[in-house]
Formats: sequence, C-alpha cells, structure tokens
Amino acid sequence: MSRVSVSKSRVRPIARNASLERHTQRFLELRRELEQIDYFCRGTVLKRMMKCGKAQCACASDATKRHGPYFELTYKANGKTVNVKLSPEAAPLYRAAAQQYRKLKTLLNRLDKLSKTVLRHQAKLAESKRQN
Ligand SMILES: [Zn+2]
Repeated sequence: MSRVSVSKSRVRPIARNASLERHTQRFLELRRELEQIDYFCRGTVLKRMMKCGKAQCACASDATKRHGPYFELTYKANGKTVNVKLSPEAAPLYRAAAQQYRKLKTLLNRLDKLSKTVLRHQAKLAESKRQN
C-alpha cells in the first residue's frame, strides 16, 4: 500500500476504509484456519490411577500401587459433569480432539470479535451514505 498525503477532510474516510480492509483480510485468514480444524471434541481427557476398594490390596495404603492408568473424557452437559471411559488407545485421539476444540473456540471468539468490528464499520458506511 502506498502512502498518499491527502487534505485533512479526506483523511477520515480513507483511514476507515483501510482499517476495514485490514479487518476483512484478517477475517478471511482466520476463516481459512477454520478449514484446518480436525475432528474435535469438547471436554478434557483425564488420566487416573484408581483404588480397587479391596482392603487387602496394596493400593489401599500405597498411592504408587494404585491401578491404572484409566482414561476418561470429562465434560459438562446441561450443568452436569459427564465422564466417559476411554481405552488407552482412544485416549490420545480424544486428547487431540479436545485440543482441536479449544483451538476452534479461540478461532470462533476471534472471528466473532472481528465480525463485530467489520459490522460496525459497515454500518457506519451505510449510515454515512444515508446522510449524504
Ligand atoms: Zn487394588
């Protein structure tokens, strides 16, 4: 982009359009990143070592002798915590999916913020056309 000196009265609309252009570009960039999102899943994968409950078992008194690891996916649905047991093979798949979900959420928040900024610009432009 080249810088052109302009009279003061023309600075505002040009600056507004340049900034609108920048926001639009950023929006398109982030939207492309959405396409990179792989299978996703809300929640967190937990790794747990468990006591079996038998009083004579070593796990009852020694934390290092607990059984496991056991994996579970935990998330909230309708205000309740849901736990889903996962096999050791499934755990890394769900862990990666949970990470994708967090990435998706971050992207969505940024897109939402950018959209609102662009909408505000577009509304101002539309309003200025009405006044002229
Ligand atoms: Zn035990």
